[in-house]
Amino acid sequence: MNPPVFDLTVDCAKALDSVDPLASFRDRFEIPTDDSGKPKIYFVGNSLGALPRKAREYVGLEMDRWSGLGVDGHFTGDLSWVTSHSLVTDTMASIVGARANEVTIMNTLTVNLHLLMISFYEPTPSRHKILIEDHAFPSDHFAVESQIRQRGFDPAESLITVSPRAGSELLDPQDILDAIAAAGDELAMVLLPGVQYYTGQVLPMAEIVAAGHAVGAKVGLDLAHAAGNVPLQLHDWDVDFAAWCTYKYLNGGPGSIGGAFVHERYVDDQSLPKLLGWWGTNGETRFQMKNEFEAIPTIDSWQISNAPILSLAGVRAGLDVFAEAGGIDVLRSKSEQQIHYFDYLLTQELAGKVGSITPTAIGDRGAQFALTILDPSTDGRAVFEALEDAGVVCDWRYPNVIRAAPVPLYNSFEDIHRFIQILKGLLA
Ligand SMILES: *Cc1c(COP(=O)(O)O)cnc(C)c1O
Repeated sequence: MNPPVFDLTVDCAKALDSVDPLASFRDRFEIPTDDSGKPKIYFVGNSLGALPRKAREYVGLEMDRWSGLGVDGHFTGDLSWVTSHSLVTDTMASIVGARANEVTIMNTLTVNLHLLMISFYEPTPSRHKILIEDHAFPSDHFAVESQIRQRGFDPAESLITVSPRAGSELLDPQDILDAIAAAGDELAMVLLPGVQYYTGQVLPMAEIVAAGHAVGAKVGLDLAHAAGNVPLQLHDWDVDFAAWCTYKYLNGGPGSIGGAFVHERYVDDQSLPKLLGWWGTNGETRFQMKNEFEAIPTIDSWQISNAPILSLAGVRAGLDVFAEAGGIDVLRSKSEQQIHYFDYLLTQELAGKVGSITPTAIGDRGAQFALTILDPSTDGRAVFEALEDAGVVCDWRYPNVIRAAPVPLYNSFEDIHRFIQILKGLLA
């Protein structure tokens, strides 16, 4: 879509909202309000998505089932607790571009990274290195370091990091591909984000997978900031494994159960090392309480425990709303328009005052803007706090970025206009 012609007036924002086919979806969410009851500008869907009203209904339903059915809830009705994790599989698979047998929800993000690294990081004395980004989300960094140590290797020798070039905050895709090629047959695994949490940069996932496979390494993706934000094609890109959380762009609720992907070619590969539990064995014979593990021939064989049903109810609510809105391509199309509009207002109203380290090309970015206050004598953190006081919910990321993410499911064009006006007022 070509960027439409914008102007600076609030009427322009209102006009954009009035023709937005997704505008009514805002009402399906509870947006935090200020003391007077006015909705805040909620620009942190990249951190914790807003509450879908449906989550109250779905959690309430599970409470009623628990109350009325007790233990029989495990085997009764469409929401049978033994199988209800599979109710979200199709929507989740379409969000990440996967087949149904490649996707499940279980545990939480960092735990899933560990479980999948147990299967896909198989270091040998000659091939033991893992490539990550220098500015990886700390949890990912800790997980990788501890996996290396757990296998008897030393992060000082086995961990390779790629960094932005001097003077840039962004990773140069070519530097990633070159680092993979340079590590060559010492490289066991690559673990990179789909969308970088700090800058909002989308990495060239398909090229990274191809480069990793070309040297014989496995490639895993952390999709915390990508799932529900940008379209993905995990199956076709030949990604080996991936994990993500559901509380950011998928609106599943704080700490909600995470998503995981294993490529079809491995889902029934019983030679992969794996931590087992009773939820990975054949559901037909599970309750015969036998000690023979009969792996479910899908990614569900990575499941260890029975699912946290209340958390799952929140995820089902988030994903139902996502699907009703038309799915990721429809949402991305609105998101792109919001990005163009935000860019327009930023350059027209705040040039020289507020910069953005997020890539400028639309294909290299998701919904998130990583803003910096350009005047070195102005304290960026103080500007962030003033934004919060003025009714904006965004976040501060050390050392000097204000992250703001207009989310197409519930943020309006008017939110963007108000945000820019507030920021302009603060810096005047
Ligand atoms: C949000 C986020 C996490 C959070 O991990 P949890 O295990 O869900 O607490 C980890 N990694 C990245 C890149 C994230 O963005």
